[in-house]
Amino acid sequence: MTTKADVLIIGGGAIGLSAAYYLLKSGRSVTVLDRDAIGQGSSAGNAGHIVPSHIVPLAAPGVIPTAIKWMLDPPRSPFGLKISLSPAYISWLIRFMAACSEENVTRAIPPFKALGLLSAKNFADLIAEEKFSCSYQETGLLFLYKTESAFAGGRHEAELLHQHDMPAEILDREAIHKREPAALADIIGGVDFTGDSSLHPGEFLRLLKERVREMGADLRENTPVTKIEASSGKITRVVCPSEEFEPTLVVLAAGAWSPQVGRDLGLNIPIQPARGYSLTMPATKIMPRGALLLGERKVAVTPMGEKLRFTGRLEIGEMSTTPDLRWIINIERAVREYIHLDDELAISETWAGLRPTTPDGMPILGKSPRHDNLILATGHAMLGLSLGPGTGQVVAELANGIQPEFDLKAFGAERF
Ligand SMILES: Cc1cc2nc3c(=O)[nH]c(=O)nc-3n(C[C@H](O)[C@H](O)[C@H](O)COP(=O)(O)OP(=O)(O)OC[C@H]3O[C@@H](n4cnc5c(N)ncnc54)[C@H](O)[C@@H]3O)c2cc1C
Repeated sequence: MTTKADVLIIGGGAIGLSAAYYLLKSGRSVTVLDRDAIGQGSSAGNAGHIVPSHIVPLAAPGVIPTAIKWMLDPPRSPFGLKISLSPAYISWLIRFMAACSEENVTRAIPPFKALGLLSAKNFADLIAEEKFSCSYQETGLLFLYKTESAFAGGRHEAELLHQHDMPAEILDREAIHKREPAALADIIGGVDFTGDSSLHPGEFLRLLKERVREMGADLRENTPVTKIEASSGKITRVVCPSEEFEPTLVVLAAGAWSPQVGRDLGLNIPIQPARGYSLTMPATKIMPRGALLLGERKVAVTPMGEKLRFTGRLEIGEMSTTPDLRWIINIERAVREYIHLDDELAISETWAGLRPTTPDGMPILGKSPRHDNLILATGHAMLGLSLGPGTGQVVAELANGIQPEFDLKAFGAERF
């Protein structure tokens, strides 16, 4: 069966659903295809942090030596690297190492800041307008530090934000314990990124999925795209096992699977998965007041109403989404080093997800360099939830021939 479609979105994670919402608002008709359930992907189990403060990409100076140091302490390391001789993987690693430069950071900050602020505003507006109940808290993101050297790194990040007119409050020992009573006595300081917020990502996406359905989206679950055909610089057919689509416009939002989905198009989409884990439990006796990031251990802690979630690890090149119990245990241990926790935690959910990561740590967002009717919206790495509603708005603008408010050049697929 062949079906005509106006905008066909491939992938129904945070990015695909956000794009669907803003496209529908702009008057377009939308079909979302997902090989699994919509509103899950690598998005539902994540930390739920909305972080406009995050203006420095993953590929930055100092990342490689820090990663090597961490890997020498395997049981505690927040970072892992798959051993593989795949040419795409090796080429990605080489490009990543080359991108860990000041130039990459300087180039990334203005577009990251613009997209992050747009997205944070869109979250607040969308949640208020749609009356979503998803544990949304505009309470900042508090980094906790146990060592002077890590605290110095936090202060440096705060100062960088100040240089870019973004808020961040440096807190000494007394101030941090006042701000977060759940912190253990040996926390020596912290930084509160007060412009950040958090929510329950699974609830947000469930509500967004229902809202886009009400707005008229055709949502197709268990519908994997197996082939894409193009001729004369235009996508003509998108093929699934029991149906084919003839779209006016396609949005590629397949996260870590984008390279496979786009392989028929001859596009260079250098994305590697960066796997991470989460564990979720009912609220503990002493709940943290707001979202936390544990400085030295890079573990996130998020209160989500009646639930509490911990997330951590970044394992480059790992594609499986089966949670590894070793790391779940290590993440819990890390949290116990920073905040008061119940002796026994009633963990109700363990999860693994794949951050779609480009070698320069920047998303791929813009029109395809090779196809007139394709928009790429992928590669958001650690920020796919946070940048979702901003990305969704930009996709809708591009689809309707509107110039976005900021320059998208740094996000263009042409850079690869
Ligand atoms: C442990 C962890 C914590 C994180 N914490 C945060 C956080 O606090 N804040 C934040 O902003 N980000 C966070 N992230 C990152 C964020 O989760 C990702 O950036 C985000 O999920 C990417 O969204 P996406 O829509 O691009 O991809 P996904 O959510 O993975 O969606 C892609 C979709 O494409 C579908 N698909 C794949 N192949 C096909 C096909 N052939 N046909 C049809 N559909 C297909 C998949 O089934 C999937 O549903 C975290 C990630 C992890 C792992």
